[in-house]
Amino acid sequence: MTNLIIPQLGDFDEVEVIEIHIKEGDYIEKNDPLITLETEKAAMDVPAEFSGIITSLNIQLGDKISEGDLIGEIANEKQESETKQVNEQKDNEYDLIVIGAGPGGYTAAFRAADLGLKVALVDKNSDLGGVCLNVGCIPSKAFLHAAKVIDDSKEANIAGVKFNHPEIDIDAMKSWKNNLIDGLTNGLDFLAKKRDVSVFHGEAFFQSTESIRVQLTSDEITLHFKNCIIAVGSEPLALPFLPMDPRIIDSTGALEPDHIPASLLIIGGGIIGLEMATIYSSLGSNVTIVELTNTLMPGTDHDLVRPLEKYLTEKCKNIKKSTQVISGEATTEGIKIQFKQSDNISEETFESVLVAIGRKSNGPLINLDKAGVQIDENGFIEVDNQMRTNINNIFAIGDVVGNPMLAHKASYEGKIAAEVISGKKSFMDARCIPSVAYTDPEVAWVGLTEDQCKLENIAYEKGVFPWSASGRSLTIGRKEGLTKLLFDPQSKKIIGGGIVGTNAGDLIAEISLAIEMNCDVEDIALTIHPHPTLAESIALAAEAFEGTITELYIKP
Ligand SMILES: Cc1cc2nc3c(=O)[nH]c(=O)nc-3n(C[C@H](O)[C@H](O)[C@H](O)COP(=O)(O)OP(=O)(O)OC[C@H]3O[C@@H](n4cnc5c(N)ncnc54)[C@H](O)[C@@H]3O)c2cc1C
Repeated sequence: MTNLIIPQLGDFDEVEVIEIHIKEGDYIEKNDPLITLETEKAAMDVPAEFSGIITSLNIQLGDKISEGDLIGEIANEKQESETKQVNEQKDNEYDLIVIGAGPGGYTAAFRAADLGLKVALVDKNSDLGGVCLNVGCIPSKAFLHAAKVIDDSKEANIAGVKFNHPEIDIDAMKSWKNNLIDGLTNGLDFLAKKRDVSVFHGEAFFQSTESIRVQLTSDEITLHFKNCIIAVGSEPLALPFLPMDPRIIDSTGALEPDHIPASLLIIGGGIIGLEMATIYSSLGSNVTIVELTNTLMPGTDHDLVRPLEKYLTEKCKNIKKSTQVISGEATTEGIKIQFKQSDNISEETFESVLVAIGRKSNGPLINLDKAGVQIDENGFIEVDNQMRTNINNIFAIGDVVGNPMLAHKASYEGKIAAEVISGKKSFMDARCIPSVAYTDPEVAWVGLTEDQCKLENIAYEKGVFPWSASGRSLTIGRKEGLTKLLFDPQSKKIIGGGIVGTNAGDLIAEISLAIEMNCDVEDIALTIHPHPTLAESIALAAEAFEGTITELYIKP
């Protein structure tokens, strides 16, 4: 129960209650008027500080009251429900507690509950879904869709369709994005409830190998577990020498902009940086990308990145490769950045700067030492192929166990951990994990890359199909794509593949399946693909490797 008190009344000492808007049993929202007071100068409402149910009223019409007097009492909804939760759950022991409700954590919790375990899911965020749903995969793809609509409308003139210059309502775009996130996170609440998974919103810290402390908004509880899965994910890395300034943002800030900056520097030419470059250049910013290495998306085969780089070069103001950001200063004109390229130092001022240089593990933040769980020098938790840490009843999954930091890897690992805890003989034995940059054009790869084969002296041969020979690709006005398959020269089994082009992120799933199924080149080439589709480029790349292709002329 919380007291409702008369607030500061300025210069007035005793004022009269001229109206009472509430009675016992009323439900009120925060800021609803409770009473109206009359001073010599004016009448003023006293608003409610909390939402909840009025349980008692201490004043009457005509009373003369002063600052600090008691208006009545309210059963504050949030406190009440937390206290109830605390009472209900205190000393409760769970078969499994999952810390972190991202794609790894909620998948693990739901799978374990489906397998009959009593499960608690703890997240410090007020919404389930983790980075992926709230500030990662989903919001970025929503904005990328908006960017694509803008770009498509510009490119439609080649097909004889002309649109006026698009008008961008950033508030409407954000509320569309937030509504679809709400739909997904509410869906997770529903799925948790249906499975009787107890959800706690609070920050968790280990106390021992059998318990965690959860810091709720206004209370603290201890939860006991037989098994625990750590799924606390990761957060953006910052550049410590940049000043604290609201114009310097990370990916989370970039997905909740209050306006579109006229000029934007993106530090980091990895997947997240390039997706943001795609979004912001389409929305109208003058985008500059700066990348420390000599290639965008380091680690990805250059032939796959080249078409993307060509597009971004046209869309962005500048792409600075082999360039280091060495300082930043907040000025009234913007953020002044110093660049170093070889021995040259240059300066430029940007309205906004987005730091996208990678992410760091949240593992070091949860008192792992109290449970004896080991982490490596980068803060990642070490696990075996059943996702078990060095402590027998504690497992870890997702970003917190290391690269690749991808939602589908996290959820896959979540299922394994939940199944192992439930007594099943599950292992992390996936042959490959696909990666996708949802840029324009999209870039996707899976299994071995050519660069990796060269670096590790792995023998390979390849089949390539350029999309300039694809009827489907030409009908959508984009011919820059490429599909590439890598094969073992002896067995002709597929060992990797990459695609650049429209919908590469969807198309790559077929190559993942082919690798997982241990397909050889004939399995792929002899699978009849529908025509005209982008998917047939996969069969055609296999045919190109076999020498049976008729869509291209390859000299025998
Ligand atoms: C901009 C952006 C775009 C991305 N796009 C893609 C994409 O398209 N495809 C893809 O596969 N991946 C994408 N990712 C990566 C993806 O979001 C992550 O790999 C994925 O979310 C990791 O899942 P997770 O379950 O390991 O952890 P997370 O999703 O990071 O969730 C961890 C959860 O743990 C909670 N938590 C942390 N500490 C505590 C604590 N002490 N107590 C309680 N709770 C805690 C956090 O609140 C969070 O909800 C993107 C990431 C970003 C930033």
